[in-house]
Amino acid sequence: MPLVPMRQILDEAKKKGYGVGAYNVNNMEQIQAIMQAARETKSPVILQASKGALEYTSMVYIKHLMLAAMEENPDIPLAMHLDHGPNFDLCKKSIELGFTSVMIDGSIDYAVKDDKGKHPPRSFEDNIKVTKEVVDYAHKFGVSVEGELGTLGGIEDETVASKVQLTDPDQCQEFIEKTGVDALAIAIGTSHGAYKFKTEPKLAMDLISDIHKRVPYAALVMHGSSSVPAELVDRVNRFGGQLAKTMGVPVESIQEAVKRGVTKINVDTDGRLACTGAVRQYLAENPKEFDQRKYLGATRVAIYEVIKSRMISFGTAGHAGDYAPMSLDDMKKIYASK
Ligand SMILES: [Zn+2]
Repeated sequence: MPLVPMRQILDEAKKKGYGVGAYNVNNMEQIQAIMQAARETKSPVILQASKGALEYTSMVYIKHLMLAAMEENPDIPLAMHLDHGPNFDLCKKSIELGFTSVMIDGSIDYAVKDDKGKHPPRSFEDNIKVTKEVVDYAHKFGVSVEGELGTLGGIEDETVASKVQLTDPDQCQEFIEKTGVDALAIAIGTSHGAYKFKTEPKLAMDLISDIHKRVPYAALVMHGSSSVPAELVDRVNRFGGQLAKTMGVPVESIQEAVKRGVTKINVDTDGRLACTGAVRQYLAENPKEFDQRKYLGATRVAIYEVIKSRMISFGTAGHAGDYAPMSLDDMKKIYASK
């Protein structure tokens, strides 16, 4: 099947009340691992690339790796998504590249840095303006758009917000109506990166329910939702790593969030930890090995295991064959008729 607009993947998940993981990717092994997990669990899947991933792969490599994932897995609904698009230009470039979905992160102003090198939040009005500009452009191509209200803490590439602001539920309806976004990232107390929390995080679960009640039709997105399992951190540290003890978002909290209305769950750090632990262990145990296929092959196994377990926990497993995929052209007609 061709790449699917993210909107359809999220709408179908909403109908049946399960979550879909959006997994950040940077290289071939990672994509192969995620697709193996999707194939075996029969899960629809969103592969997403950040600005950093696009730069790392000169854009064209990540495009073709994602297309290879599609070609290899004709039975898996797959969307190709830009994560945290900082401005209109990168969203436009990604659409030209063939992405079926883009995020415009209008919640912070990536063009400005304060004296600590952090990006300030944008005003609600500015956020609407930059988001709508991307929606108007993307929908002409049938491409889905994710916007963000509120800001997350932590680090994702260089996307560091100077101030953490939970999403204001009073703004959601107006934001969605004025911009026309297909998915809304909400800030509920999660944080980007590996160093999330020292103790188990208190997420604003009631805020999800509140937002869901006000905009029941919206696909809500949870960023910074790696679980940072102790065993993955321990594996890195056992073989020479020096990661501080930290906690992510427990899988049970994500399951609760899905019950309350979240449909897209962004997972990046867990894949990185799995990858690093596998490389460290392999090289520590095989100091004479210099064939990169060996240790990169080991990363594939480790990433596959963690992502497979997420697909099962999020409820995505078993849903790949539920619906006939839509094309960007189908979506184009739907947007044009609105
Ligand atoms: Zn994010």
